Amino acid sequence: MLTNRSKVVVNKKMSFWERIYLPAIAGGLLITIKHFFRKKTTIDYPKEVREYSQIYRGQHVLKVDENGAERCVACGLCAVACPAEAISMTAAERAPGEENKYREEKYAAIYEINMLRCIYCGLCEDACPKEAIFLTDILVPVSATRDDMIYGKDKLTEKHFNEVPIKKRQTEEVAAFKAETKNKDLRHNVLGKSDSF
Ligand code: SF4
Ligand code: SF4
Repeated sequence: MLTNRSKVVVNKKMSFWERIYLPAIAGGLLITIKHFFRKKTTIDYPKEVREYSQIYRGQHVLKVDENGAERCVACGLCAVACPAEAISMTAAERAPGEENKYREEKYAAIYEINMLRCIYCGLCEDACPKEAIFLTDILVPVSATRDDMIYGKDKLTEKHFNEVPIKKRQTEEVAAFKAETKNKDLRHNVLGKSDSF
């Protein structure tokens, strides 16, 4: 014997009530009925949706500036910071006449996030020096195929005049930090329209 926790099993003879099982069945039903009247812990999703935490991190958005030009310069810092290696991109040079489309001389011709790899840690957002990528409170929908879960610029880039609000998700400390950055008038970090970082 390795421990003193062993129990001696007694092969006791069952009583009449134990043999007909009815008290045990009634006891089981009583437990079920008790749970039936308890407050439910589940919800009727998707008709009902739980309130998310203020700092919930969901789908990413690639922000545009006040003129609708993409802020991302394909520097790759978000991809380097990503612990899940979920981000990939191809950089391209802005052509003359594309100033209204891309904020700086370099932009991401392809920018992809593999949502199946992403762990929604937010490190890409922290690493970005251009205030270009943010996580939002949008829930990433499920899909039956892996390809659908690779989000390109078509799904990630916000539309001009239809911006994706992200202010709600920022904590007060982050908001204060961003506001301070803005006051310092650092050109790359000046926020766009309606200060909606
Ligand atoms: S949230 Fe984290 S895991 Fe997801 S893409 Fe950004 S850095 Fe990678
Ligand atoms: S999202 Fe930000 S960090 Fe990532 S490539 Fe674009 S500018 Fe660089």
